Amino acid sequence: MSKKNIALDRLLTIQNHISNQPQQTGPIDLARERENASFNVKHMNWLFWGSKEFAEALQDAFLIIQRDPELHFSGGHPFDLTRPEEREATMKQIFRYIQLKKSLKDPLLFKALGVAMGMYSESFNMKVYVNDYLMAQSFKLFGTTEQYDAYINDIVNWKIIGCFAMTELGHSSFLRGLETTATYDRETDEFIIHSPTLTATKIWIGMAGQTATHTIAICQTIIDGKKCGTNWFIVQLRDQKTGKLMPGVTAGDVGAKYGRNGIDNGWIQFSHVRIPRTNMMMKWSKVDKGGEYIPSAFPAVSYSVLIGERLSVLSGAISTCGQVLTIACRYGCVRRQGANEEQIMDYQSHYVRLMPCVASTYVISVITRMIINKWEGIMKLAQTSQEEFISYLPDIHAISSGLKAAISWWGCEVLERVRRSMGGYAYSSYNGIGGAIGDWGVVTTGGGDNFVLIQQSARYLLGSFKQVSHGKKVTGSVEFLNDIQQIRSSTKSILSDERQLLNLDFTLDMYTWLCCKKVDVLAASLDSSTEGEETTWNENQVDLIKLGELYSYRFTLSEYIKGSLWAIHLINDSLYLFLEEEYFSKEQVKMIKKCHLKLCKEIRKECIPLVDSWGFSDFMLKAPLGKYDGDVYTAYLDTLKAAPNCMGIPDYWEKYVKNF
Ligand SMILES: Cc1cc2nc3c(=O)[nH]c(=O)nc-3n(C[C@H](O)[C@H](O)[C@H](O)COP(=O)(O)OP(=O)(O)OC[C@H]3O[C@@H](n4cnc5c(N)ncnc54)[C@H](O)[C@@H]3O)c2cc1C
Repeated sequence: MSKKNIALDRLLTIQNHISNQPQQTGPIDLARERENASFNVKHMNWLFWGSKEFAEALQDAFLIIQRDPELHFSGGHPFDLTRPEEREATMKQIFRYIQLKKSLKDPLLFKALGVAMGMYSESFNMKVYVNDYLMAQSFKLFGTTEQYDAYINDIVNWKIIGCFAMTELGHSSFLRGLETTATYDRETDEFIIHSPTLTATKIWIGMAGQTATHTIAICQTIIDGKKCGTNWFIVQLRDQKTGKLMPGVTAGDVGAKYGRNGIDNGWIQFSHVRIPRTNMMMKWSKVDKGGEYIPSAFPAVSYSVLIGERLSVLSGAISTCGQVLTIACRYGCVRRQGANEEQIMDYQSHYVRLMPCVASTYVISVITRMIINKWEGIMKLAQTSQEEFISYLPDIHAISSGLKAAISWWGCEVLERVRRSMGGYAYSSYNGIGGAIGDWGVVTTGGGDNFVLIQQSARYLLGSFKQVSHGKKVTGSVEFLNDIQQIRSSTKSILSDERQLLNLDFTLDMYTWLCCKKVDVLAASLDSSTEGEETTWNENQVDLIKLGELYSYRFTLSEYIKGSLWAIHLINDSLYLFLEEEYFSKEQVKMIKKCHLKLCKEIRKECIPLVDSWGFSDFMLKAPLGKYDGDVYTAYLDTLKAAPNCMGIPDYWEKYVKNF
């Protein structure tokens, strides 16, 4: 113990003696934990956020939010706001953010402010994302240069507020089943946008409820009574000055949700709304004035904008997991419970649950930066070299679909582990966990349901496997399949020493073996079936979904250099799959379990410096139990005392209680 802590300990003992009341040990506990750091927390912070410059800009952005009453929630605790109050506050934040876009001269600081605001409010995040990304990128990826030039300035300055209308009441995952029609009228050179049935109603559309002035809507294109395929159309929904719905448009809000209530998800019905032909997005497929339809050579490109949306879930995972784990780890080291008043973080069942989550957050941060950079590079090709752009799509589509599903499911697991690790206090909205669970809930579904997406990754993997079986070489995220013959020949693990488990190349090889083995087994099962293709697929769906997960996690390991605990966690979690193939012996399983526990214990020693390195300020965390200084009980009770309607005599006393 350092001299400083010995002095603090003595001070506490004297204080306790004088006041005859035990004082909070949290500040000393966290100070002690911080002494365990074997690394420089500031440097780790730079590493985590990708660069010193960005990490510092992010800290500046946190301060800007804290100091600017237009940017932060004011007039009470954010978790006490009603839905209309949250809606208004979110719009106020966006208004201010767009003002700052013009006045903040430092582009890095403005970028950091966007990221920080997204961390501070998921509703802000989603609203800005829908307009600035989904709408703007749709113009970039689906629109012609003229269309892009005509709209982009108004979109980025929020003079046009856009929404992205894909999902319908009846269909979403099966997009070919969408019912909204865009019928070409040759006489007027217009399209007529129409919702022919109740189930054609567009639903869940972010900002369609009461805010968006325009949408890009995906519709079945009909020319001369013939369905030609789905395309995107620009439709004005509301008058830009009055907010009134345009003729033929009916729309409303979906009402109460269990998260992200600052955004107005809505429904839209079109009744024969006429738009010029040139409002069809025509970068890939086209309709000319005579009504001739020129289909896209690459139909899959219609959904490419969703690749970025899926990858953004990874950034969300860093922010959400980072914040809740900071709260849970600090609380876990402050909270004492048991015969010897142990720190609850020292219970094996506690740190074994949380430490893989901390490790995974580091891995996800590295993977996210790498894959988003890759996607940004590919997107540039859409403007310069369309064929090259298309050639990259299958692999990045498979990676983004698989990662989105695997990491968003893992995010749910992290949130639930955190919730269970904080006892009853996690149930208090003021500690931030419930809100995070509500906000996160949508990401396993939105942007493509996980069960559907992960099967697309599995399909890609099986397709690549087929190519390899026919003697072709494959590249990208499935390159490891080229060695399948060699992998096939090793049926038992050569694991003999615990030290091998700490070598990431070794653990990656084991995970690669599992992935290859499962591809092999599933491909054989699909090939040997006498049922139709769809039935066979469905009969193997559970295993295919697992395969998609294995492929995605393998990708994270292959791209990451130092992920020991996360690697062992993944192997430990998949033990039953290895055992199914008789790859490990009993002794090897014991060795893996032992190593898993040992690594969790090692990471536990530095859990506070590890979460401090993410740099979330108390203001950003909004959770008294996650306070940096460890004085959590004072902060929590102060929050309760300040909460509305929590003290005094309630109205129902007069009306009911006294009359019993
Ligand atoms: C908060 C929120 C915001 C949203 N924002 C937008 C938006 O801005 N724009 C937009 O267009 N949409 C938006 N959506 C809609 C979202 O994209 C859809 O909810 C999503 O695509 C899933 O569609 P669904 O809800 O119709 O589920 P369904 O497709 O009906 O699926 C229901 C369940 O069935 C199972 N399932 C379905 N198909 C398969 C299959 N092939 N194999 C195995 N299982 C299957 C899955 O378990 C799935 O969870 C939003 C949704 C929410 C909740």
